[in-house]
Amino acid sequence: MFSIFVPEMSENKSLHNALRQVRLQAGKFQICGFSISGLATYLQLPELDFCVDMGECPVSAIGLNHVFLTHAHGDHSRCLMRHHSLRRMMGIERPSVYYIPAELAKGAENWIHAEAMFEGVPEARFQLPTIVPMEVGKKVILEYRKDLALETFPVKHALSGKRYLPSMGATLFTHKNKLKEEYLHCTTSEIIALRKQGVQITREVFDPTITFMGDNLGDNLLDSSLSSIWNSEILVTECTFLDDGEQDMAENKGHTHIGKIVDALKKYGTDIHCKQIILTHFSMKYSVDHILETIQKNIPDEFKDRVSAFV
Ligand SMILES: [Zn+2]
Ligand SMILES: [Zn+2]
Repeated sequence: MFSIFVPEMSENKSLHNALRQVRLQAGKFQICGFSISGLATYLQLPELDFCVDMGECPVSAIGLNHVFLTHAHGDHSRCLMRHHSLRRMMGIERPSVYYIPAELAKGAENWIHAEAMFEGVPEARFQLPTIVPMEVGKKVILEYRKDLALETFPVKHALSGKRYLPSMGATLFTHKNKLKEEYLHCTTSEIIALRKQGVQITREVFDPTITFMGDNLGDNLLDSSLSSIWNSEILVTECTFLDDGEQDMAENKGHTHIGKIVDALKKYGTDIHCKQIILTHFSMKYSVDHILETIQKNIPDEFKDRVSAFV
């Protein structure tokens, strides 16, 4: 007689499954993916041809051309190269573009090279994917979406020795050229004439559409140097810990406790212009019901209709 080993927490019994995607309407577009601390985070925005992090790479992510990596933790980064190689395997010619914090770019290249060598790719055939090192505060127009620009900002997340790991949040801006104020009264033929004379009649406008905080200490939300995040139409921020008594654990692990989100909502109050605030990256120990109940209980009444959980 033999017995079959059954792990204590089998996939069927676990509370969360990283390949079962959550879908949430965020303004005019959908966010599909998954985000539970330690398991995986990937947030796909198909209408914007954009994905934040690649902790898993489902088939639905393969067609997305732009990927932003917030930081190097495996639950956010480990399928970045799977994305690249699956595209090639499926014959997608267009090179995808990986936007990576500048400090991590060299390490990412080494990692990608090492992975290819491990798989037995001949050195002569090895080719790096397109990596754009992101510098804080510089707007970068997306490679295949000239109507969108990405700008990063630094966030404090986990400590590595005495320094914080390189981690970034980012805002995706809608980028357009608008007619300058002084030409608004002009007729179409006058505009055409001005254009022919080479007059610069338009100005660039960047509207903050969606901001992703990435993994971060809740203190980033209260940092006045980052107050522009509250101007974004949609804010996506992590909320790893929910329960009373977990505040210190959140601090030590470099994550946000819901109490810090409540503090930030109270601090900025009517200065918050976000139409939607989406909470992600909950600890894997909480059930969906517990997450929803705790949010309902803690978020101030005036923000309840704007705050939702990505679960
Ligand atoms: Zn994480
Ligand atoms: Zn992390």
